[in-house]
Amino acid sequence: MKRILMTADWVVGHQDGAHCMYRNGVVVVEGDKVLHVGYQFDGDVAETVEFGAALIGPGFVDLDALGDLDTTVLGYDNQPPERKGRVWPQSYIDAGPREMYSPDELAFQKRYAFSRLIRNGITTALPIASLFYRAWGETYEEFAQAAQAAEELGLRVYLGPAYRTGNLVVDDVSGDISFHYDEEKGLAGLAQAERFAEQFEGRAKGLIRTMLAPDRIETCTPELLLRTGELGRALDIPVRLHCCQSRMEYDKVLAQHGKSPLELLRDVHFFNDKTVLPHGLFLSGLNGIAYDAPDTSILVNSGAALAHCPLVMARGGRIMKSFRKFRDLGVGIGLGTDTHPPDMIANMALGVMTARIAEENPGAATAADLYSAATVGGADALGRSDLGRLQPGSAADLNVIRLDDPAMGQLIDPIQTILLNGCGRDVSDVMIAGVFVMRNREINGVDNASAQKKAQAQFEGMMAKYPERTLGHPDTSEIFSSSFPAGPVRQNLVEEGRRRT
Ligand SMILES: [Zn+2]
Repeated sequence: MKRILMTADWVVGHQDGAHCMYRNGVVVVEGDKVLHVGYQFDGDVAETVEFGAALIGPGFVDLDALGDLDTTVLGYDNQPPERKGRVWPQSYIDAGPREMYSPDELAFQKRYAFSRLIRNGITTALPIASLFYRAWGETYEEFAQAAQAAEELGLRVYLGPAYRTGNLVVDDVSGDISFHYDEEKGLAGLAQAERFAEQFEGRAKGLIRTMLAPDRIETCTPELLLRTGELGRALDIPVRLHCCQSRMEYDKVLAQHGKSPLELLRDVHFFNDKTVLPHGLFLSGLNGIAYDAPDTSILVNSGAALAHCPLVMARGGRIMKSFRKFRDLGVGIGLGTDTHPPDMIANMALGVMTARIAEENPGAATAADLYSAATVGGADALGRSDLGRLQPGSAADLNVIRLDDPAMGQLIDPIQTILLNGCGRDVSDVMIAGVFVMRNREINGVDNASAQKKAQAQFEGMMAKYPERTLGHPDTSEIFSSSFPAGPVRQNLVEEGRRRT
């Protein structure tokens, strides 16, 4: 098997269960595995790559990986959701919700999103996409295409079509918000996810793995959660469910079931040892939840890991309370990007800041804590001791972050410097399973300029369909505001133009 030796000013290795740093280090990969990490290597190699002023580290594991053209931009300044097309009107559900993208567009956006993940140094991804613009859940067919895209790009993924029984709905007349449920649709989605898992687990020499991805706790009935838990244990695959994400979710679950979200999961035996819960913000006693439930101890005992996504949560005005508290209790924490840009470095940096804000203590979290969460934390959540770390025998999944750009400022330690000054665009090279999928910022098989153009056109097509599923059907210009009003037209130029023509 071919050996490749890589050198860099800094290399993150792994020893006795924790990362360690090699100054002027080497990494040797053989086939799809790491053979050696250290200061030197005396054996024969087929190829040597010298990265110089850079950090070689384990690839990032993204537990809530942005998997579509992100719609966050549409809601960034446009509130409330039920007036801006992010809660379906009853009349839209009654008419039969529609797919707002064609099958080709769904396939394209996954391929596009996967290339953005690689661009940011992410080597293992559990994709997540919005269901706002879908007829209901995700489909087997689109995930078959997603698997193909991942294989062609060389991205390691855990795939599973998202499914649900329920959806928020707003009354066309009163403006009241409630839930619409359809048990049959939820169970059909689960059956589809089971078929996908059985057929795609382990494809592409193990690059493609599968998961169960019920949408959110408040959009699933107890029956669907119970069956999901059973299937997750039977197939022994990760199960990801958005939970403890919002105040609305907590209140709705409590009102419907007389128990907290985590009490509900406990009571339907939802958990397995690979349960991943984005986002872990709203638990009893935290972020304004006054209801008295043993949420924290349920979480600790469940074996579930949190997918912490600091950027998307901070955009919504919310932070985890707290990273340090959960970590000290032994709760597994990995990171997720969940929004554009899928920039794990930005998420690590914001994760440090929000952890310190939550505790009002600058010692509450370090750069190393968040870097570990983005690597080993995510890998451990999936039960993958071969990912998220570079040591002999682990998967040859790594990224290279440049340190020689003037924007990087000064350096005493690369991890701290990268979190202070760097971003995802500083990732220059990515290797997954021993294959360079990105070299010098060029991703195999991706033409960035044309992909960007196509993505923008596709997004504009989807935006144009917003009025039909927005309360009162306002024009897009009313749904999506401009930050500032249009400037005045300069009359004399218009007149001059007229004279010339
Ligand atoms: Zn999320």
